[in-house]
Amino acid sequence: MSAKLFQFLDLPRQPPRTVPVAVRVLGYGEIGGDFASPQASAQAERCIDCGNPYCEHACPVHNYIPNWLKLVQQGRILEAATLMHETNPLPEICGRVCPQDRLCEGACTLEQTAFGSVTIGSIERWVTDEALRQGWRPDLSHVRETGHRVAVIGAGPAGLACADQLRRAGVAADVYDGQREIGGLLTFGIPPFKLDKGVVRTRREVLEGMGVRFLLGKEVGRDVEFGALLDEYDAVFVGTGAYTYVDGQLPGRELQGVHDALPFLIANTERLMRDEPATVFDFRDKHVVVLGGGDTGMDCNRTAIRLGAASVTCVYRRDEASMPGSAREVNYSREEGVTFLFHRQPIAILDNGHGEVRGVRVVETRLVDTGDGRPKPQNIPGSESDLVADVVIQSFGFLPSPPHWLAAHGVALSPSGKVVTGANGMLPQQTSHPRIFAGGDNVRGADLVVRAVYDGREAGASIASALTRKSEKAVSVER
Ligand SMILES: Cc1cc2nc3c(=O)[nH]c(=O)nc-3n(C[C@H](O)[C@H](O)[C@H](O)COP(=O)(O)OP(=O)(O)OC[C@H]3O[C@@H](n4cnc5c(N)ncnc54)[C@H](O)[C@@H]3O)c2cc1C
Ligand code: SF4
Repeated sequence: MSAKLFQFLDLPRQPPRTVPVAVRVLGYGEIGGDFASPQASAQAERCIDCGNPYCEHACPVHNYIPNWLKLVQQGRILEAATLMHETNPLPEICGRVCPQDRLCEGACTLEQTAFGSVTIGSIERWVTDEALRQGWRPDLSHVRETGHRVAVIGAGPAGLACADQLRRAGVAADVYDGQREIGGLLTFGIPPFKLDKGVVRTRREVLEGMGVRFLLGKEVGRDVEFGALLDEYDAVFVGTGAYTYVDGQLPGRELQGVHDALPFLIANTERLMRDEPATVFDFRDKHVVVLGGGDTGMDCNRTAIRLGAASVTCVYRRDEASMPGSAREVNYSREEGVTFLFHRQPIAILDNGHGEVRGVRVVETRLVDTGDGRPKPQNIPGSESDLVADVVIQSFGFLPSPPHWLAAHGVALSPSGKVVTGANGMLPQQTSHPRIFAGGDNVRGADLVVRAVYDGREAGASIASALTRKSEKAVSVER
């Protein structure tokens, strides 16, 4: 039972203070502030130990939330960090980027009252940061090396979680990635004001300390043959993400000043990593229109603000309640000066006569219930209008991008290109090829960090158990 059962009556929900708007828009530093130790413990004491931890159920990795909140209340930070890592190999990252309002905190029993949920994500972040600062590292001293070796393709959250799980089971994990740094979208997609890149670098040190080997700048299919990996390793995990653009097919999308969301965000992150000024993306005095209302759209909005845009307008074809991303990110965008235009469908990007953007033509929409779940936006004829724009950023989402070598090795894909896993009695995350496992965005389509982490963790556990069974001659993973 909680040390102070009725703490929630006396102490309101109080997340760490964010950096003031006037300061945060001047740079790319993380805007989420940090707890001081007594605040974290006091906020943890707001947990009422309700006995039905819906928060755990709603957390995709099923963190033992009430249990680690108790350890935080007792000041047992290192033990809390150890418990967090039993279910989540990247807790400091999920604590920062999970849309908690839709997951753990949205399901907290206190959230159903006027008192507001426990600040679960911020506590998770604070505990891990603090434990790592104090020198905490995963203890693998009890782990017996099995001699098995696995190739992990992709150093995004799915691949990292898989590698972590494999090392905990005494399996060697070699992680291949085409990029020069680990993290996948954690490093190159999510902007630094949401996730400082130093956090990912620290996690790399932790994983290397666990014996994970990173082979970076090695794209499978270009620098390394997939077949060679299958020959060399006992099993392969594929966590290559989802990078095919949803193309809105808008007339005028070839005009100068039109950008696709991810190349824009990646180029800006790489520029910041090289400490270079914004030249291509100098948005000073420019009117920017962002098309799309997901998390990536919010990142584009807020990056455009930091690039000095005179105005940023975000156009979304449904209403605010239907936005697919985190409400927190929408609020941050608004606080930082973004204007939202709901119920608008872009129909064309307009030319100024010199091959450059001058605006976006939109039409108003109404939501129509078609009886198959989510209401669909329908254009209202005659309601067209033009928005002024010097820059347009298209952010319509991503589809799977299965590498050609997967199908060539007999891995079944869905009609939309997702890797099929766990079908017909297969192990969790096992594909139709018994020695190939997959997870993250390439299995689910574009989704969340924490779900990629879940898949990677489950895949690591499946691979380890399949290899153990194989060693015991109950062959389930055949060479
Ligand atoms: C701009 C943006 C913002 C986002 N914000 C959030 C957020 O706030 N919260 C949240 O939960 N989620 C967010 N997401 C979603 C989240 O980042 C993804 O769901 C998650 O990163 C998927 O993890 P993954 O490991 O499957 O793939 P990825 O992170 O895409 O990693 C895949 C890795 O595989 C590598 N790779 C691909 N092909 C090969 C190959 N042939 N050989 C070697 N390496 C290869 C890539 O280089 C990459 O490093 C965001 C996504 C974007 C685009
Ligand atoms: S991993 Fe994400 S959903 Fe789960 S407890 Fe942490 S912040 Fe909440």
